[in-house]
Amino acid sequence: MHTPVEGCLHGMEPAWCFLCRIERSGADPGTAWGLKTRDDERDPEDRRGPMSLRQASYLRFLCEEFEETFDASLTDAESAIVVESFLDEPMTDSQARTLFFLSQIVGMEAETGLTYGQARTKIRSLVAIRGLKSA
Ligand SMILES: [Zn+2]
Repeated sequence: MHTPVEGCLHGMEPAWCFLCRIERSGADPGTAWGLKTRDDERDPEDRRGPMSLRQASYLRFLCEEFEETFDASLTDAESAIVVESFLDEPMTDSQARTLFFLSQIVGMEAETGLTYGQARTKIRSLVAIRGLKSA
């Protein structure tokens, strides 16, 4: 059995555990996991107002993930474009390590070459298999 000497409550290292990163971020967990679709599906042209608080905290989390500067002045429509571009980035080291760890536990080969969005989905499904608390 895997018995970490000092780990997070998910059995990983808090320094890179992706689940911990989401929990620490302060972002709405459902949004950070990509479970909630946007409340506002109107045409971007009609979304020139500021971001909602939920969208702003989600974008701030993604900016931290990629060590980019968070721009609070983005409009709602602009923030949606930035979020999409982050999801298409290659997965982070935190995600890769979390994916590897969880894949090992369930006896699967860890996938490589995923995007951030794909890795997040994969981690979420592995978390579900393991019954880990994620959100
Ligand atoms: Zn953790």
